Amino acid sequence: MSKKQFKAESKKLMDMMINSIYTHKEIFLRELISNASDALDKLYFRSLTDDSVNMNREDYQIRIGIDKEHRTLTIEDNGCGMSAEELENNLGVIAKSGSYDFKAQNNNADVNIIGQFGVGFYSAFMVSDNVTVRSLAFGRDQAYCWSSKGVDGYTIEPCLKEGHGTKITLHIKEDTENENYSEFLEQYTIMSLVKKYSDFIRYPIKMMWESNKLKEGTENEFEKVLEERTLNSMIPLWKKSKNEITKEEADRFYREQFGDWQDPAKMILSKVEGSATYTAMLFIPKHAPFDYYSKNYEKGLQLYSSGVMIMEKCADLLPDYFSFVKGLVDSEDLSLNISREMLQHDRQLKIIATNIEKKIKSELLKMQKENRREYEEFFKAFGTQLKFGMYDDFGAHKDNLADLVMFPSSFEKKPVTLQEYCDRMKEGQDTIYYACGESIDKIDLLPQAELIKEKGFEILYLTENVDEFAIQVLASYKDKTFTNISNENLQLDSDEEKEELKKLNEDNKQLLEDMKGYIGEGVTAVRFTNRLKSHPVCLVSEGALSLEMEKVLSSMPNNTGVKAQVVMEINKDHPISEKLRRLEENDKEKLEKYTKILYAQARLIEGLTVDNPTQLSNMICELMI
Ligand code: ADP
Repeated sequence: MSKKQFKAESKKLMDMMINSIYTHKEIFLRELISNASDALDKLYFRSLTDDSVNMNREDYQIRIGIDKEHRTLTIEDNGCGMSAEELENNLGVIAKSGSYDFKAQNNNADVNIIGQFGVGFYSAFMVSDNVTVRSLAFGRDQAYCWSSKGVDGYTIEPCLKEGHGTKITLHIKEDTENENYSEFLEQYTIMSLVKKYSDFIRYPIKMMWESNKLKEGTENEFEKVLEERTLNSMIPLWKKSKNEITKEEADRFYREQFGDWQDPAKMILSKVEGSATYTAMLFIPKHAPFDYYSKNYEKGLQLYSSGVMIMEKCADLLPDYFSFVKGLVDSEDLSLNISREMLQHDRQLKIIATNIEKKIKSELLKMQKENRREYEEFFKAFGTQLKFGMYDDFGAHKDNLADLVMFPSSFEKKPVTLQEYCDRMKEGQDTIYYACGESIDKIDLLPQAELIKEKGFEILYLTENVDEFAIQVLASYKDKTFTNISNENLQLDSDEEKEELKKLNEDNKQLLEDMKGYIGEGVTAVRFTNRLKSHPVCLVSEGALSLEMEKVLSSMPNNTGVKAQVVMEINKDHPISEKLRRLEENDKEKLEKYTKILYAQARLIEGLTVDNPTQLSNMICELMI
């Protein structure tokens, strides 16, 4: 019997498989099962037109066998089988698999593609040192055996085999220091791999299952029992129509597939035919995984090609701002052997991703409208991500997300959407007011907020670090701009009021300059204001950078030390104004103390620290006695 050589490229791929350091060696089983399933399909389709195929639908099956003693794992099907010629052509020459082309273009050894996508039959060599394929083509009498120990070639010779189909025997490699190959001889491993990768193969995958059972008639004597088990559930849940899937089924599927202990908040099933044909089964979790806001979190959807999983986490299917979505996409348009590199440029995949994004958004908007409580829960878990999404990529996605975000507001201190805010706006109001602070309660007590609320304007309360950045990137919503109530240009006054204030500030120029001098660098100016109602003092910022943003930026590791331009404003109608004017005339020493105390108060109200608390408390005490 002469040994035949593999074709050059096959040899290379084989070499890659054998020496692969890839950790997902387990996918070999998926590949072989998928080949078996294809062979069953071929025969099944033939049976539709060829009466000589005398098989019932239930007869088609895949069998897995484990022989620990001989270290063999067998995968057998009763499908179409292969003739000697087919064995030669199919297994001696590498199939036009996408992964090889990809590898050829990327000579970089670090690019480890194996296992991410189909690599076909040769993946068997990742776990075995000897592979034998016995096959009897349907309708033939003579079976043939293809056998290979790896790169140095293969043999094909006649053999005995009962019944048509293919039986692949893998001799599993010995364990090494780093690799535990023996696990592929454990029935539990095999079962879980089948569940993980091939659960929805249309044909039963059977195995003799060994267990210890109580011997009949005894109380503590056990015996080994072998019974046949079907390892896969066969029908992909998502192949059913929406009303055929019970909530329990969908919930269990989500928990098992995506490792959550809680049921999902929502399941979205979308079956699409057209420029791309696919089914997407998506889940919105109730809570963020513990690592969600960390670098370790990997987004992505499972990707199936006609029921066979080809990728566990396809990141290209989800934009970052919807990275919390779990689920899968099954499309017959995608080939099993598509490489990640090719996927990225796959037009179908891009269409699917765009559709999915739209679908998620519309479902979220629906939830927002129809089940507010549920949406608020969702937003509590993932709202921050949506707000980051508005801010990311220089605001490229802001308009897509603006309808989804919510902020608590002065209206009922409950989260409101921007649309709801706009719907309630007063006549002639052309800006959306917002205020920033640590908590709703603290913002609610801000001196700047009092008068605005009294005038009947609603204020959005921005309590998260990302909020104001997101709002500033958004810049406007439905033609309405945003205004921070702590910004100097509040534009609440009539022309008359503006004039009056201007005059007041000019008349007291010296007093205000003196006060600025006592405070020093902390403020760019001191002014009288009419924005305050009962409170004596507040800080406002000039320009785009607010005090809150300064706080956020200064807490970041790459703090560049940027400072907001701050103005201290004194309530012109508060008795303190009169007092300050008098002190300017007859007690500068006291004026300095008053100024410093007022400044400290204004800082504390903003949630900022006071530079010298001891000095402050001493000054207050002096005034008390
Ligand atoms: P692919 O499945 O992507 O074509 P493989 O390397 O896995 O690539 O397999 C090469 C070919 O060998 C298959 O296309 C098929 O024709 C044949 N083949 C593999 N396994 C079987 C099987 N169990 N029964 C019949 N034919 C098979």
